[in-house]
Amino acid sequence: MTARSAFFRIKQLSIAATVAAAAFLTGCSLADTGLEGDRDTLLALNSDKDRGDFHVSYRPVEADAYLKAIKHILETSGTYEAAVKDLNNALSLPEDVNIEFLECGSEDAYYDPNIKSITLCYELVKRYTDALGSDDGSIETAALHAGLFTLFHEMGHALIDVLELPITGREEDAADEFAAIMLLWSEQEVAALSGAHQFSVDAKEWEAAPYWDEHGTDMQRYYNIACYVYGSDSDRWAELVTNKTLPQERADLCEEDYWRKSNSWNKLLAPYLKRRIELTALNEQIIRNSQRGL
Ligand SMILES: [Zn+2]
Repeated sequence: MTARSAFFRIKQLSIAATVAAAAFLTGCSLADTGLEGDRDTLLALNSDKDRGDFHVSYRPVEADAYLKAIKHILETSGTYEAAVKDLNNALSLPEDVNIEFLECGSEDAYYDPNIKSITLCYELVKRYTDALGSDDGSIETAALHAGLFTLFHEMGHALIDVLELPITGREEDAADEFAAIMLLWSEQEVAALSGAHQFSVDAKEWEAAPYWDEHGTDMQRYYNIACYVYGSDSDRWAELVTNKTLPQERADLCEEDYWRKSNSWNKLLAPYLKRRIELTALNEQIIRNSQRGL
């Protein structure tokens, strides 16, 4: 089964979960409502809970020419707006969440639950652009991929907070899973692998985090993401094992691991769906960008 066909199968399951969730929220059975089987109407019930959206903005860069170039690439590509549009179209949020790209003076990205705001520093995008540039062929593509995994990771944190999602385990792992799964659902496996690559760069260049840190180690995060990519379509990504990116012992577990995580996110988000999650705007924008050399 390909990642695409399996995704649609899981989306069918998520619709069923949404139907059940909508009936629960209205406090009556589907038969009572007279809406039994009317999926569109039931999905529309979730629209009534929609009070917010993700909003992307790009704050100006003061002087650094490289950061200005990165801002220009991110802003003109339309990639992040497309990703946000896809999630806004599908999800009912109880309040707005702002996503701000800005010059921070440090290489960082974080979600602040107090003001419901994601900060993505141009400096962090620059760091990963430098690391990915030779792999991706063009600095523009590298910059876009560098930001995409981090954007979805922080959106994962935001959704866990504003939807009060009942995750277990480390929140940082759940945010990585969300980022990888969104990219795999939208068939952006290369961007997901770019996200993995960023952690291998951090492992080499940054001092290891202490054992008490809320994150897994960089190399654990690297292998987890590579595992989800392989597990989403083990035939297509067999080279991850043959080129020793992923040891066989771990690869043996990845298909089950990927489908379990994918199904879990479907169930977690089902009560908040206005429509099926389809990352078509993101896909189309990436195709348009590639046609103009981005
Ligand atoms: Zn995080």
